[in-house]
Amino acid sequence: MILILLGAPGAGKGTQAEKLVEEYGLQHLSTGDLLRSAVSDNTELGRLAKRYMDQGQLVPDDVILGIIRGYLKEHAGEGVLFDGFPRTVVQAEGLDGILNGVEARTISLVVDDQRVIERLSARRSCRACGRVYNPALGINPASPDRCACGGEIYQRDDDKAETIAKRLSVYHAQTEPVVEYYRSRNLLVEVDGAGSPDEVFNRIRKVLT
Ligand code: AMP
Repeated sequence: MILILLGAPGAGKGTQAEKLVEEYGLQHLSTGDLLRSAVSDNTELGRLAKRYMDQGQLVPDDVILGIIRGYLKEHAGEGVLFDGFPRTVVQAEGLDGILNGVEARTISLVVDDQRVIERLSARRSCRACGRVYNPALGINPASPDRCACGGEIYQRDDDKAETIAKRLSVYHAQTEPVVEYYRSRNLLVEVDGAGSPDEVFNRIRKVLT
């Protein structure tokens, strides 16, 4: 199964992705996590991506499609969950070309902008393992100084107020057309992203059966 999880930043994609990976045995490819780890390792990709990420803008499509091509080659024949990809229609078309006839199932998590702002402003992450701490979502609500893994808890630069606004406008301009792209091909299921992580996951489970 190739599953695509769409939704605004803060819609809960990462949280639901963890649950989906466990339940359905999929490989999890979060382009955001992969780029953040390249930034923290200070690789060439990381240095390039950081310029865009810090401003809440998207990393160029050819860079992202290169990553996806390499990943799918490495995981040929396995089920994959894409989280945070595709973010533009060019990426969606590129993925169609790479999948070459294999159809992806696409779930869009629907959350309104006000809730996105509340969730992202409250989100803290572990610098070492990426674990999320978010009282606005009831995920690991008591934010400790250190993560369970010992890593430092921090606020992502792109979760600060000015960048959240920019990311939302990028989402509406560039990623909402991707939702339309899959809707017009009858490949899209929309799921209400409001409520606790378990409530949302139960809705997703129902549409996948
Ligand atoms: P995320 O963790 O998915 O919110 O991604 C964080 C940032 O990484 C985004 O704001 C973009 O700058 C970059 N990014 C992640 N995935 C993509 C993608 N598929 N296309 C372009 N940029 C991306």
